[in-house]
Amino acid sequence: MRLSTIAREIRACRRCGLHEGRQKAVPGEGPSDARIMLVGEAPGKEEDIQGRPFVGRSGRLLDESLKQVGLRRNDLFITSVVKCRPPKNRIPSTWEWERCIQAHLRRQIDVINPAIICLLGGIATKALLGMDRLSEGRGRIFRRENRIFFPTYHPAAAGRNRSWHRVFSEDMVRLHGLGQST
Ligand code: URA
Repeated sequence: MRLSTIAREIRACRRCGLHEGRQKAVPGEGPSDARIMLVGEAPGKEEDIQGRPFVGRSGRLLDESLKQVGLRRNDLFITSVVKCRPPKNRIPSTWEWERCIQAHLRRQIDVINPAIICLLGGIATKALLGMDRLSEGRGRIFRRENRIFFPTYHPAAAGRNRSWHRVFSEDMVRLHGLGQST
């Protein structure tokens, strides 16, 4: 299975109601052998228009933090747990993310086989680690499925709160270190 085949299926996906409101699905982007994968929540307005992940406001903050710590965006695979923008940016429902992960994200992870999956925010952390509260897991390392899961704040949340922003930047430093040592 190739990433481009999965991306084509995502663009044609009608498994849940989110497809009805999308302009463009957002499969994600990055190399098929990325060591680090970033998983966010769901595409926002700008992502829905462009069909690319993290290109809006939270994307700018993410790019800035990656650059600061010397991580190159092009080296990472960047995606989200659901691939279509929820109406009015609501939180995706459990049913939606379960369907989407099973159909798409799981296969992307299988193909890329990243050493590290950085979970951006509470929804990604709940969806992939089953943890109800991000505060239980943020900044901790979880070894599952032969890889490391590393939860941190969603960049949009980091952009709203100064101390979360600082912690997010520290977590990006840690992520960079994990990428070099794993
Ligand atoms: N937030 C996400 O979680 N994913 C995106 O692609 C954009 C914003």
